[in-house]
Amino acid sequence: MQKKICWRITRRCNLSCIFCLASENQYLDRELNTRQVLLILDFLKNCGINKVTFSGGEPLLREDFRTILSACYRKGIDTTITTNGILLNEAWHETLSHGNIVTKVSIHGTKSIHDSQVRANIYDLVLDNLKSLSRSGSKVAVNCVLSRLNSESIKVFLEEISDVALDHILFQYLIYRGRAKNLHSIDLLKDEKEKLEDDLFYWIEKIGYKFNIKFNDYAKENIPYLILESDGTLVIANDYTSKDIKVGPCSEKNLIKAINSVYNLDNFSVFQSQYNHMNGDLFHQ
Ligand code: SF4
Repeated sequence: MQKKICWRITRRCNLSCIFCLASENQYLDRELNTRQVLLILDFLKNCGINKVTFSGGEPLLREDFRTILSACYRKGIDTTITTNGILLNEAWHETLSHGNIVTKVSIHGTKSIHDSQVRANIYDLVLDNLKSLSRSGSKVAVNCVLSRLNSESIKVFLEEISDVALDHILFQYLIYRGRAKNLHSIDLLKDEKEKLEDDLFYWIEKIGYKFNIKFNDYAKENIPYLILESDGTLVIANDYTSKDIKVGPCSEKNLIKAINSVYNLDNFSVFQSQYNHMNGDLFHQ
């Protein structure tokens, strides 16, 4: 069974997207040093985590990110990196070519639509970097946040990237957290999401595109998942309820408790009520 954790390895970022989940004061967050990160990777491996998704912030801004990825590779941990693609130059090709790494580049539509959402003129650079990484033999994917801003033109965007050998495209919807807290007006309604998904599946099959598409509506399902914050705090998150449980520092003991509760959902309600009762360590974002 794949047991995974999402690690917000840094809160630093070189963009300022309109829907970013990271808080506005992200640059103030404490960040783990290399030694602490490698120690936590040992804990993750020992506790049975076999997949880590690195996000942020922008993970490639960490000066030691190559060291971190190499350690994951040596430990046999599958790795996905979610990156905005700006720094994804040739210097990264070799590191990202390991078979167990998927590099997922965030592109949110055609040039003007993407650039207006990330508030920077970077579409051409990011697309070039994605294509070049794909040609180098790395496993690449695209991450796209769907909303009213891009739903009408999403097929044009897919045509633009149709020549890239993508592992998959992940479509996500808005999560009302961080900077997206008040973006309800640009979110799609439930019916619209379903119609769009059906339409895209049908269209992609008809056109004959090779890549897989996946849709994730995190706020739709009441499923807790594990997050590791940039300062090493372990959190059980739930986008459906928007109520997260701050478990504490990422020690082996806390990891085992959190993994048991997330991967054995029968335990989760007991765990949740224990935490509520014991220390009120439940926080709302
Ligand atoms: S969404 Fe990602 S790329 Fe955009 S500001 Fe947030 S961390 Fe940076």
